[in-house]
Amino acid sequence: MGGVAASARPLVTRFVYVNGRYLPYSQAAVHAEDRGFQFADAVYEVCEVKGGRLVDETGHMQRLARSLAELRISEPMARGAWSRVLRETIRRNRVTDGIVYLQVSRGAGPRDFLFPPAEARPTVVCLARSVSQRRLEAAADAGIAVKTVPDPRWARCDIKTVMLLPASLAREAARAEGAREAWFVDADGFVTEGAASNAWIVDSAGRLITRAVDNRILRGVTRTTLIDVLKREAIELVERAFTVDEARTAREAFITSATNTVMPVVRIDGRPVGNGAPGILTQRLRSEFHASAELAES
Ligand code: PLP
Repeated sequence: MGGVAASARPLVTRFVYVNGRYLPYSQAAVHAEDRGFQFADAVYEVCEVKGGRLVDETGHMQRLARSLAELRISEPMARGAWSRVLRETIRRNRVTDGIVYLQVSRGAGPRDFLFPPAEARPTVVCLARSVSQRRLEAAADAGIAVKTVPDPRWARCDIKTVMLLPASLAREAARAEGAREAWFVDADGFVTEGAASNAWIVDSAGRLITRAVDNRILRGVTRTTLIDVLKREAIELVERAFTVDEARTAREAFITSATNTVMPVVRIDGRPVGNGAPGILTQRLRSEFHASAELAES
């Protein structure tokens, strides 16, 4: 790491871990009949790397284990080996502030809807990338816009699969209207979650409201850590679904995810939330987040 100025640190991925080997980015590939590619039969995790520390590794690895178990994909390696792969990928890509991405598919084999034999080996990919903290903080200072879209996803959004086409389409629709995130809305008019984040509002009494976890949303690791912050600070939390109208008239709104931590939402469908600036409570939670998160040497 020594001597590489922050501004000179590459934002690109240089090496990718693929099934036991660290390959140069241009040569990192998986089989054409990988089930992740053909069936979206794969799960993933994204962890934040902050100041050279891995944030909430335990929570992310527990969720990965759960996602694998729900899909009956065998655990490709033990906990200690995952930890080494994450760290070595971060190190080889010289990431101090950014993300590390881990994906596990059921593996490759002749295309068949039925699972391959039990001895088929999962495909494991890990990559890491720096994220410009200047740009991230600029977004947090200004707050982001969100666009609401109908939620067309399957009924097991609690599993972190790579089945991300609805999220990708929603993000594109949001971008077309100058918004950075999309909020999915269920058939009853309630916000489920963001394309890649959990959704929160602050009501007029200063209570935080976020949807209770069920199969319609992902149990965000950032969400879980933030709930610890709220408990410590004795801030009231109501876990229930909220409507788009409630969000539009909320005092504050924000999203949580490993890549954004706590990110203020200042516009929903083109209309300002509160006074149109990042909320005071939201900013406080953003600044306190890492004090509650697990920070491990990377
Ligand atoms: N919901 C969805 C659909 C996501 O894709 C994500 C993260 O990618 C989240 C919520 C937030 O999860 P986490 O806080 O663990 O990053």
